[in-house]
Amino acid sequence: MSFLNRTTTLRTRSISFVQRWFSSATPEENKTELLAPSDPAYSRAVTHRSDANSVQASSPVSRDVRRRVLLKDDLPFSAFLTDSFGRRHSYLRISLTEKCNFRCQYCMPEEGVKLTPRAELLSSEEILTLARLFVQEGVTKIRLTGGEPLIRPDVLDIIGKMREFEGLKTMAVTTNGLNLTRMLPGLQKSGVDLLNISLDSLVPAKFEFIVRRKGFHKVMEGIRKAVEMGFHPVKVNCVVMRGLNEDEIQNFVALTEEMPLEVRFIEYMPFDGNRWNFKKMVSYQEMLDHIRQQWPDLELVPGAEADTAKLYRVPGFQGQIGFITSMSDHFCGGCNRLRITADGNLKVCLFGNSEVSLRDQLRSGSSDEELLQVIAAAVGRKKKQHAGMFSISQMKNRPMILIGG
Ligand code: SAM
Ligand code: SF4
Repeated sequence: MSFLNRTTTLRTRSISFVQRWFSSATPEENKTELLAPSDPAYSRAVTHRSDANSVQASSPVSRDVRRRVLLKDDLPFSAFLTDSFGRRHSYLRISLTEKCNFRCQYCMPEEGVKLTPRAELLSSEEILTLARLFVQEGVTKIRLTGGEPLIRPDVLDIIGKMREFEGLKTMAVTTNGLNLTRMLPGLQKSGVDLLNISLDSLVPAKFEFIVRRKGFHKVMEGIRKAVEMGFHPVKVNCVVMRGLNEDEIQNFVALTEEMPLEVRFIEYMPFDGNRWNFKKMVSYQEMLDHIRQQWPDLELVPGAEADTAKLYRVPGFQGQIGFITSMSDHFCGGCNRLRITADGNLKVCLFGNSEVSLRDQLRSGSSDEELLQVIAAAVGRKKKQHAGMFSISQMKNRPMILIGG
C-alpha cells in the first residue's frame, strides 16, 4: 500500500480518542593547555557556583589561555564546555522563537503562553555571536528549534551564516513541518543537513486534535518531499501518549517499510502546563513489546549505541525506528547538549530549571572571555542526571514551547 493510500485508510480509523482524552582557540591563544579533571586549573575553569548569576568573581580563567581538557587519550576539548563529570558539550540547540503555528497539547498549555516582549528576545546578530563562540569552543552540531523555527523570517539567513563557521559539522532543524514544503529548497541551499519533523498521528482528525490546528496533509507532503530531495535520514518525531496515539505505533513502524525514514518514538515528558501524568506515558519497553507482536524479528541497529535514540529496524524495511527514552531509561550519562532559549538563557539540562542569561551578558558588553566564564560556571553546575520523572513533573520549569526541544 502506498504512503498516501495508507494515510487515507487510516483516516477512517477510530477517532473516539476525542472523547477519551481531554574550538578552537584563536591564534594567539594557541598556548593550549591540556588539563585533566584532577588538575586544580581544570576545576577553576569549571568552577561550581551556588549563585547562578554572580559570575563576576567566578573562575579565574586567564584571558590568554583557552583551557582544554584531555580525557582518555582523546582529542582535547574546551574546559568551558566540559562539566564536572567529564561530559563534553558539543551539541547546541538554539530556540529561534517562542511562537508557533500549532498548539500541541503536550507542548503548549491550553491557555497559551505569555510571550517575551520582542526587545527581550535574541536578535539574529546575538544568536550568531553566541553560536560562533560555542563553535569556536568545540560545538560541532547546532539544532535550530523553537517554537516553530521556520516561522522566523530570517531563519535561512541565520542558517547560511552559521554554515560559514569553521568547525560546525552538522546543521539540524526540528520543525512541525507545516511550512516545510515551500521552505525545503531554501533549507537545502542554506546548508541544513538534518531534518526532524514532528508527526504524532497518521489519522488527520486525530492529528488536528493533538496540534489543535489543521495541516496534516501539508506535513505529510513536507516529509515526502524532504525524502525526495535527498535529506537523509529524515527523522519523524512522534510523542507517544496513552489513550491518544499509542494504537498507531505499528502504523508508524509500517511507514519505514517503503520510506527511508527514521521514526523516533518519544516518551511523553512532563513540562509546565502540559498535564503530564504517569498513566499517559507509554514506556520504551511497552512500545517495543507492542511492535514485536507484529515484527518479532525487530533488531537493534548495530553500531548505533552512541546515539541518543535506541535504534532498531525491521529486516528488509528501508527505514528504521528509534526510541527517546528520557523518562524510563535516561541517557544523562552521555548528555552532550546545551540549550539557548529564544530569550537568551543558557539551559544546561532540559529538565533542570537553572538558567543563566547570556543575553544580559552580551548586552552589558561582556567580552568573549567573560561570556565563556559565565558559560563555564553554568556547565560546571550541571547535575549528573535529571531528578526522575516524578520529581520533574512536580518541578517548576518552562513549558516546552518556551524551552526549545
Ligand atoms: N515546533 C517544532 C516541532 O514541533 O518539531 C520544534 C519545537 S518542538 C518543542 C521540538 C520537539 O519537542 C518536537 O518533536 C516535539 O514533539 C517535542 N516535544 C514537545 N513537548 C514534548 C513532550 N511533552 N514530551 C516529549 N516531546 C515533546
Ligand atoms: Fe509548536 Fe512544536 Fe510545540 Fe507543537 S511541539 S506546539 S509544533 S513548538
